[in-house]
Amino acid sequence: MKQIYTFGNYLKDKFGCKVYKVGINISGFTCPNIDGTIAKGGCTFCENDSFSASTGETKELKGFHLNLTSQENPYLDKQLKQLEMQFEAISKRQHVEYGAQKFLVYFQSFTNTYAPFSTLKALYDKALSFENVIGLSIGTRSDSITEETLEYLATLNKEKEIWIEFGIQSIYDETLQKINRGHDSKNVKEWILKAKAKGLNVCGHLIFGLPDENRDMMLHTAKVAYSWGIDSVKYHPLYVVKKTALANDFTKGIFIPISESEYLDVLIESIKMKPSNVSVQRVTAGIDDNSLLSPQWCKDKNSQIKKINSALKPLGLKY
Ligand code: SF4
Repeated sequence: MKQIYTFGNYLKDKFGCKVYKVGINISGFTCPNIDGTIAKGGCTFCENDSFSASTGETKELKGFHLNLTSQENPYLDKQLKQLEMQFEAISKRQHVEYGAQKFLVYFQSFTNTYAPFSTLKALYDKALSFENVIGLSIGTRSDSITEETLEYLATLNKEKEIWIEFGIQSIYDETLQKINRGHDSKNVKEWILKAKAKGLNVCGHLIFGLPDENRDMMLHTAKVAYSWGIDSVKYHPLYVVKKTALANDFTKGIFIPISESEYLDVLIESIKMKPSNVSVQRVTAGIDDNSLLSPQWCKDKNSQIKKINSALKPLGLKY
């Protein structure tokens, strides 16, 4: 059985050792789809509150939010310290538990290019200065990155491994409107192509099971995303968590989540269509806490992975 081309395989081939992503959450970052710049409330599936909790927000940083309109950041030193502490703790654990030898610092929560350029530069430079860090992966929205930031990342990419993770979700604008995404598909394509033209590595996030999308639409989204030249992909099922707009729609019966068998079918077809050079970073989601409303099959990731592997078996593949 051949393993599908995972991001871990890609990193091992390139760096010759175990490279792990270190997920970092910096307090003060927000999202233009939440802070009112583009919209309020965020994407309908996004539990906005969960981010501040996950950053381990300190007292001083509580209520502080960066945005693109102000160059001032009185809390930069605290953010740099937070970055260092998180990196040290997580990378140490990954080294002890999994034998990780090198690291890719992953700016994960919220929109990690949505801040004054001076702040972004300081954080990215600091992350790259840590021992055994080979690069960065930066999660963001396509409408929240500037030419200046892209140019700087391209410069860093000459010496290090720089990835940008864009939420594509769907290539259908009517779907993007239904989930209150705040940008259209043209915008995502434009910035992915710009990043690729500058030689940057791009990971695209896709969601299957978005409101009113059928199998053909989901597969078409995957096909179009591949055609934009993404280097890596994360596949997610849309699940409903409490305290979201989607939870209201689910409770009223307006939104019905994708079933596990439908998800499996679309996932396997998408993997089959995937160009061989596109690595896979994620095949599903596991929400093992009481925030999950539905579907319940998203609770148990191990059971899903078993089913995904059974479905991949006839293709001679495993995850
Ligand atoms: S772009 Fe990301 S952080 Fe912003 S509202 Fe949507 S899911 Fe939440």
